[in-house]
Amino acid sequence: MDGLEIKNNRIDKSIPIYVIYPDNVKWDFFNGLFEEYGHAFYSPESNIIFLDGRLESEEWFTDDHLYVIEAHELAHKLAGHTHGHDIQSEKEADFLGYNILKQMGLNSASQLHREEFKNRYNISVEEFDVPELIEDIIVNL
Ligand SMILES: [Zn+2]
Repeated sequence: MDGLEIKNNRIDKSIPIYVIYPDNVKWDFFNGLFEEYGHAFYSPESNIIFLDGRLESEEWFTDDHLYVIEAHELAHKLAGHTHGHDIQSEKEADFLGYNILKQMGLNSASQLHREEFKNRYNISVEEFDVPELIEDIIVNL
């Protein structure tokens, strides 16, 4: 299919990454979702991460950014978040994603996720009031 590349997810092989490019026949549909949810989102119904293919040509976009996306979207899945985009779910996914990367020894990627957490919420990961559910998931990673 034009405008689609399926990538392996390095953090959780069971969740494939569908990279969607502007020449995809459903680009307008996906572009609307990227505008709503950001460069990537996880679909619980299909268990797929959809990624905006334009990211790959952005100069700032590194492999660590992709790791951050993979960890963040896996975190949404582990936390059982459903669709929607409330700030608390995003905080939890960022906090949990950071911990996933740290646990895997992906130091530069976990550092990046940590910085993104601070930039997004103006508090450090240490200052985050971690919900019990998220605490439990981290203990069992
Ligand atoms: Zn998210």
